[in-house]
Amino acid sequence: MPPPSSKAGDNVVTRPNEAPSGDFNPWLRVTSLIENAGKILGLNEGTIKRIVTPERVLEVAVPVRLDSGQVEMYTGWRIQHDTSRGPGKGGIRFHQSVNADEIAALSADMSIKCAVVNIPYGGAKGGVKVDPSTLSRGELERLTRRYAFSIAPMIGPDRDIPAPDINTDTQVMSWIMDTVSMLRGQNTPGVVTGKPLAIGGTLGHAGATSLGVTICTAALLQRLGRPSNEQRVVVQGYGKVGAPLVKLLSDRGMKVVGIADVKGAIHVPEGINHLALAKHFAEAGTVVGYPGSDIVPADLLFTIPCDIAIPAALGGVITEKVATEMAASIMVEAANGPTTGEGAAVLASRNIPVIPDVLANAGGVVASYFEWAQDMQGFMWETELFQQRLEKFMHEAFNHIWSRHKELDLTLRDTAIVAGVERIAEATELRGLFP
Ligand code: GLU
Repeated sequence: MPPPSSKAGDNVVTRPNEAPSGDFNPWLRVTSLIENAGKILGLNEGTIKRIVTPERVLEVAVPVRLDSGQVEMYTGWRIQHDTSRGPGKGGIRFHQSVNADEIAALSADMSIKCAVVNIPYGGAKGGVKVDPSTLSRGELERLTRRYAFSIAPMIGPDRDIPAPDINTDTQVMSWIMDTVSMLRGQNTPGVVTGKPLAIGGTLGHAGATSLGVTICTAALLQRLGRPSNEQRVVVQGYGKVGAPLVKLLSDRGMKVVGIADVKGAIHVPEGINHLALAKHFAEAGTVVGYPGSDIVPADLLFTIPCDIAIPAALGGVITEKVATEMAASIMVEAANGPTTGEGAAVLASRNIPVIPDVLANAGGVVASYFEWAQDMQGFMWETELFQQRLEKFMHEAFNHIWSRHKELDLTLRDTAIVAGVERIAEATELRGLFP
């Protein structure tokens, strides 16, 4: 089982319908950010090394009997990056680009994210290298259950709690929860979050990431003295995060003028009607063809004249070139790891404030924390309480990062990494080194 590689260029992340994104390696990017934060904080080298290195890396073979009777092999991973602040927490993605480096990077992002919003979790992530659109429902269920069985020794309500991520949903979480419950001989709802309501899920989980992105966007606009109703927004992605986001941003008076999904990108200068778009998408299965829209080449999405850019799909898309050509004057990272190191440097040199993923999209994991807490208590909170608490956590996290950013005179991204690493380091040092 190879550990995440340390060579740039290995396991390059690719995106659907696109060429590999140069030699962007998300693992190298996140380790250099953590090391840099450690130096800014004056941490000793041993602590920095402990924080950078993933605690556990599990690679599993996932054989699946296809409907044709043939057996196909897939590879899956679960990586616990850091558990000094609590059990590992992080999603599971099914995607053809998944690899060990990507999952390791995303697990480290989860450690930082949970620390930034100050919830009692460490960071973890999992994934299977598979294009789920090629599988039938039965094949998807068998793949999910076999993968869940293989990572079962590593997960659990007090160990590591998976959740949905790219191409995984409430149904996939139900199968994982059921597989683990069968194995343990007891109902174990706290082993995953993002479950359906009927088996221990919560009403507020769906859309919580988008709500957090909206809260952070509005908070930044307020700090910059820019009225919400004068902002034009471009969103990349119309999935679990992008779709509710279009509604929430529109509700706050922002105009969504551009949007893309895997099938293409559209431009609507007068602003998209979120209800009409939802209806069109339900019928057509894509945003492309939305009445009155112009088609835009997908790689030119972020050149559409607008004020705010929101990548809400895959990682590594904001490259040096995209950052150079970006029309927006603010970027909010709803996706995980959307920006390469070079892209981030260009945005910083252009003085474009960026709310980083570990803050902007943390609403999802905060909602997961509430769902898990309810499962552990066996007590369902009222939805209003859930929403109020989610908003409180997001506002507190934003305010903390904003004030540290002013004090430290760093970008919001560097500040968020420093703030997260600071909390992880405190836990690491308090606990000491075993044995
Ligand atoms: N997949 C989401 C994320 O990347 C949620 C993770 C979770 O709730 O554990 O933040």
